[in-house]
Amino acid sequence: MLSRSIPCLWITFCLHLCCHVDSGEAQNAKEVILLDSKAQQTDLEWISYPPNGWEEISGLDENYTPIRTYQVCQVMEPNQNNWLRTNWIEKGNAQRIFVELKFTLRDCNSLPGVVGTCKETFNLYYQETDSEVGRSLRENQYVKIDTIAADESFTQGDLGERKMKLNTEVRIIGPLSRRGFYLAFQDVGACIALVSVKVYYKKCWSIIENLATFPDTVTGSEFSSLVEVEGMCVSDAEEEADNSPKMHCSAEGEWLVPIGKCICKAGFHQKGDACEPCGRGFYKSSSQDLQCSRCPAHSLNDREGSWRCDCEDGYYRALSDPPSVACTRPPSAPQNLVYNINQTSVSLEWGPPADTGGRNDVTYRVVCRRCSWDPEECVPCGPNVGYSPAQSGLVDTYVTVVDLLAHANYTFEVEAVNGVSDLSRTQRLFAAVSIATGQAAPSQVSEVIKEKVQQRSIQLSWQEPQQPNGVITEYEIKYYEKDQKDRVYSTVRSRSTSATVNNLKPSTAYVFQIRAFTEAGYGTYGPRLEITTKEETTAAIVSSEQNPVIIIAVVAVAGTIILVFMVFGFIIGRRHCGYSKADQEGDEELYFQFKFPGTKTYIDPETYEDPNRAVHQFAKELDASCIKIERVIGAGEFGEVCSGRLKLPGKRDVSVAIKTLKVGYTEKQRRDFLCEASIMGQFDHPNVVHLEGVVTRGKPVMIVIEYMENGSLDGFLRKHDGQFTVIQLVGMLRGIAAGMRYLSDMGYVHRDLAARNILVNSNLVCKVSDFGLSRVIDDDPEAVYTTTGGKIPVRWTAPEAIQYRKFTSASDVWSYGIVMWEVMSYGERPYWDMSNQDVIKAIEEGYRLPAPMDCPPGLHQLMLDCWQKDRAERPKFDQIVGILDKMIRNPNTLKTPVGTCTRPISPLLDQSTPDFTAFCSVGEWLEAIKMERYRDNFTAAGYSSLESVARMSIEDVMSLGITLVGHQKKIMSSIQTMRAQMLHLHGTGIQV
Ligand code: AMP
Repeated sequence: MLSRSIPCLWITFCLHLCCHVDSGEAQNAKEVILLDSKAQQTDLEWISYPPNGWEEISGLDENYTPIRTYQVCQVMEPNQNNWLRTNWIEKGNAQRIFVELKFTLRDCNSLPGVVGTCKETFNLYYQETDSEVGRSLRENQYVKIDTIAADESFTQGDLGERKMKLNTEVRIIGPLSRRGFYLAFQDVGACIALVSVKVYYKKCWSIIENLATFPDTVTGSEFSSLVEVEGMCVSDAEEEADNSPKMHCSAEGEWLVPIGKCICKAGFHQKGDACEPCGRGFYKSSSQDLQCSRCPAHSLNDREGSWRCDCEDGYYRALSDPPSVACTRPPSAPQNLVYNINQTSVSLEWGPPADTGGRNDVTYRVVCRRCSWDPEECVPCGPNVGYSPAQSGLVDTYVTVVDLLAHANYTFEVEAVNGVSDLSRTQRLFAAVSIATGQAAPSQVSEVIKEKVQQRSIQLSWQEPQQPNGVITEYEIKYYEKDQKDRVYSTVRSRSTSATVNNLKPSTAYVFQIRAFTEAGYGTYGPRLEITTKEETTAAIVSSEQNPVIIIAVVAVAGTIILVFMVFGFIIGRRHCGYSKADQEGDEELYFQFKFPGTKTYIDPETYEDPNRAVHQFAKELDASCIKIERVIGAGEFGEVCSGRLKLPGKRDVSVAIKTLKVGYTEKQRRDFLCEASIMGQFDHPNVVHLEGVVTRGKPVMIVIEYMENGSLDGFLRKHDGQFTVIQLVGMLRGIAAGMRYLSDMGYVHRDLAARNILVNSNLVCKVSDFGLSRVIDDDPEAVYTTTGGKIPVRWTAPEAIQYRKFTSASDVWSYGIVMWEVMSYGERPYWDMSNQDVIKAIEEGYRLPAPMDCPPGLHQLMLDCWQKDRAERPKFDQIVGILDKMIRNPNTLKTPVGTCTRPISPLLDQSTPDFTAFCSVGEWLEAIKMERYRDNFTAAGYSSLESVARMSIEDVMSLGITLVGHQKKIMSSIQTMRAQMLHLHGTGIQV
């Protein structure tokens, strides 16, 4: 039978053709094989129907490995319908199935006698099922995939022989929804050999990309579909924020379009496709960091995989410190803490700590404690004390503590803190000072209540001021008619916290202000309180309020006072002298009226016929037995000045200075000697030397004054040259100005205000002294006779006082300007060695003293204002105090741009700046700036020439061991000037 003989022929071809199978078509790595007929060695056992159709035949492939094939070749008979069905193929996850057929197909032309019946194609079908369906075959259940034709059936060989060509056709089916399927081949009369049937699907194989693992993923159902797959971070890695790893599996089984990534966690770094722990001594603080880093300074770790390193003992990391910064420690204590007491406020200033602990966030905090006289018993100062700019978090190295109690002991601790101070358990390091506050006037009376308002009287009551700062002996109620133009003030005094003000006009608005009085003087007035008296009614015209006797008495008293004021040119003096006791309500109340200014007025003792009366009017007679003289401290004009102790009955003993009148004195000398006490006794101010009393009824005659431990200001400053901060110096100047304001308010003209006549106590409080009447003439060695006949301390005296003896508070202001200059130059002699005549001439020509070294420009400007030729243009002491207070409150205004003060303003001003280029040696230069004490320091550090000095920086100066800030500034300022002068002279730049 032909049908039998043709397959045999085919086998021959087959063996020949198998040698041409492209062995390069090995299994693709992306493919998952579901069926491969070639791989099966045993019978395939597919179903063939009808039985004489497809036939299973064994053969050998190119490697002589047996293969199983199906053939059919019913080309001779028409209407062929031969079916071959594979076994059930379970598809797994696959949706898109590839069917690859390898077959040969004989060309009908090559078969004689088959025209009309021979075909050259076959059909491919499939049927989806969830399980095997048995061996029956129903054609209508199959879905046709395609009609398969051969690319080439037979080709002509070079030698004319026929060669069979192997055709490969691939068809894709899907998407499939059932668990499996069958494939079926329908032959309709062709001569076919199915060499192999391979069924597979494609898959993207698991990979690690960007530290994320992507699992095996079956491709999508469509050719164009991309399957999005979420990656899983490898161990010790985490997803990058908002950037989770994703990839896309293409239909071809390729991973495409990677998005996002994983990164190694803190403590781990990437090595290849994995995260490895950081080694010992290394850390990685964040997943964002790429590499592990070595532990920063003062930190360590001995574990692997650390995100941070631990601080060494004694070192810390602040909460806000990132792990990458070095561990740090608390700073050492601030250095060079100095203070300046001004009544009940204290300015503290200090230098930064030597060791900042390795941080640059050093701030300072102040701890204030009030101590009893036993220093062990200190308590926190509490909330009533104020700190400017603040108590803690101070960035600058100064603070002013205000509202302290008067006459109290305090301890201040200044601590430098940084970001790790609170973490440290080591002992606090701080700089401390103990101080005692001075006396201070009481604080304001602010809570005033109107108790009763009548037509002609108003009754007020008030609270004691919050800080009385002593025993309040009296309150002063000042009042005036609100609408009155020339503001005539009246005052009423009361010893209690209430008073009735009488003799007011009905229906009139009055303004009241109250202030308290203690031993330390008056406090400031409280806020203004406006009250209008009641309307007058006819019935009230003759009321008890308007007792005609009182009116007459008051008018008489007031009239007398005003008369005295006009005749003698001064107002009623000592408090007791002018009072007329009010005879109305309250025994405590004292009442009198006078014209503005209503302050106490100085009375010239010379107006007293009997000078002894003046002394006893103003000075307390002391019992000599209360005074213990200890040692001689100086020589006064009339005798020795001693220090000693005064113990009054019922009081603590106090240190005093005792001026004695030498034996053999004349009556005039006695009078002149005691005159100082008569003047001093009228004053009561914290910045004016306080008279304790006199001894006139025994010998020696003595004047007893509060003891001022540091003696006169000029000598004190010379002794402590460069040792104070500008704030301290300004604090001293403020005290002197406050004392002078008080004296000028009292109408007292000092005439000899100079640093030598200012005394300094142990708290650096400066007080005005030297009040003898003839003092300028006899006492002051600086005083010289002028052409106008008087003896005058020329360098300190205003031109109008020199020329025509016009001594006023304005001329005192001139002298005050000179005192400012003395203070800022640490006791330098004004106008140096110029002669008095030259000084007078220079001043007349408009020359003025230049700013001392390192003097803030604002202070020099104030001096120049005090030296205005026109005395009306000079500031008043009141204004001077205000200006200095402002400077103290804003220490930044006192910062000196180095070198600014040495800039010459006029030829005389030029004299303050020595020509540094003229010096031959470093020693000579140091001498000129009064810093010769550091000569050895410069030599030891190798600064032998001025050129080398001119190159020094502030750090160089500090490294010489010069610790006093004032001296550092003085030397640095001089170096700057020297550098400028050298530059000017040589035109060469000096690099620093
Ligand atoms: P006088 O006679 O006021 O010029 O005083 C002579 C010297 O005695 C002064 O230069 C001071 O050194 C000293 N002295 C005067 N008063 C006091 C005082 N209250 N406390 C301390 N020293 C004083």
